[in-house]
Amino acid sequence: MMRKNSEMMQRDLAVIWHPCTQMKDHETLPLIPIKSGKGVYLYDFEGNSYIDAVSSWWVNLFGHANSQINAKVKAQLDTLEHVLLAGFTHEPAVELAHKLVAITPTRLKKVFYVDNGSSAVEAALKMSYHYHLNRGKKKPVFLSLTNSYHGETIGALSVGDVALYKETYEPLLIANRQVPVPKDQSIASAGEALEILERLLSEEGDQIAALILEPLIQGAGGMHMYHPDYLVGARSLTKQYDVHLIADEIMTGFGRTGKMFACDHADISPDFMTLSKGLTGGYLPLSVVMTTEQVYEAFYCDYNEHKAFLHSHSYTGNPLACSAALATLEIFEQSDILGENQQKSDYIWQEVAKFQQLENVGAIRQQGMVLAIELQGYAPEERIGLRLYQYALEQGVLLRPLGHIIYFMPPYIITYEEIDRMIAVAYEGIVSLNTSA
Ligand SMILES: *Cc1c(COP(=O)(O)O)cnc(C)c1O
Repeated sequence: MMRKNSEMMQRDLAVIWHPCTQMKDHETLPLIPIKSGKGVYLYDFEGNSYIDAVSSWWVNLFGHANSQINAKVKAQLDTLEHVLLAGFTHEPAVELAHKLVAITPTRLKKVFYVDNGSSAVEAALKMSYHYHLNRGKKKPVFLSLTNSYHGETIGALSVGDVALYKETYEPLLIANRQVPVPKDQSIASAGEALEILERLLSEEGDQIAALILEPLIQGAGGMHMYHPDYLVGARSLTKQYDVHLIADEIMTGFGRTGKMFACDHADISPDFMTLSKGLTGGYLPLSVVMTTEQVYEAFYCDYNEHKAFLHSHSYTGNPLACSAALATLEIFEQSDILGENQQKSDYIWQEVAKFQQLENVGAIRQQGMVLAIELQGYAPEERIGLRLYQYALEQGVLLRPLGHIIYFMPPYIITYEEIDRMIAVAYEGIVSLNTSA
């Protein structure tokens, strides 16, 4: 039966409260009901197509309805859909954990399964605090970077710094200190930020369990990027002050930054790494906290010593999700995805050079398969990002700016023709902002 977009929208709005949305906006802003997806395209109920230039909130790597991932999930579906992971195990969880240990930085040897990004951050924070406690030290404070984002549950929100999401809940949050993120991608700004980090650690390091950061790219903070030298310095300082380093690679993991993990650009091994989003190729909710033998050992003792990590979620390590992740990693193994991405990202960089001539365009920056363009000269009330979003949708491209920052973060299977289309629509959209104002 053919349903119209408008009909679906009405049925939706009668019952669904959407994420990260002022629902009243939908009095004027249409909701786009998606019927199907294939490759970089999403299709609505009236046959319109949209290039998914934001990988459906940064999760999709190899396209929608990818045949290889589909096949593996379908096979798993007929084998085992779910089983608890306490006291039991299953093949997809075991195989995936081995693969993750093999491809992540060397010190990460243990995999703790969770089921979404924020929960992985919560688990890493709890583990870090608990580790110090098990070793006889009380360190009740976490350290994070300004402009950071680590998710929206209470603990994750506490270590984040996006006022829009955080301010309202301030009285509910846990103890957190912040140091400035390097202000740009230069080595000099990394050095300046490290000096402040060192000062804080030397004064308050005995209270701090962990430094959590998004390596190289702060996603929700407007695709803010910084130099890998900061990671090198942060790793050695945290070690020096007995503070854990938690690399939140939920957005940056699985090739997004040009290497498999952002930490690889600095050749560092953190104490914890959180992974989600691209982990299942954008198919199913799954996340992991990777950690070291040293952390694992601090919890390993007789039950009555009460040192175990008693944290769980119902869908921890779901077999369907693990099989989607295994298929995703197989795709990485079968061809030179990172090499092909490098060429695509060089091409994107070259093609956006012309944006620099537009007077409403400020800084343009890129790291791997993320390119961000800052618009300048607009007040927040103008909701310039929203206008651009609407323009691009009408042209068949899904861009979802973060405030005044437009970014491209497409699935890796995007073709050069589709890149051209995505860039052309963004360009025309930016030009039209001034003429339609
Ligand atoms: C998206 C994101 C999270 C939160 O993950 P959810 O699955 O949305 O809860 C945490 N950290 C970073 C860096 C993210 O980009």
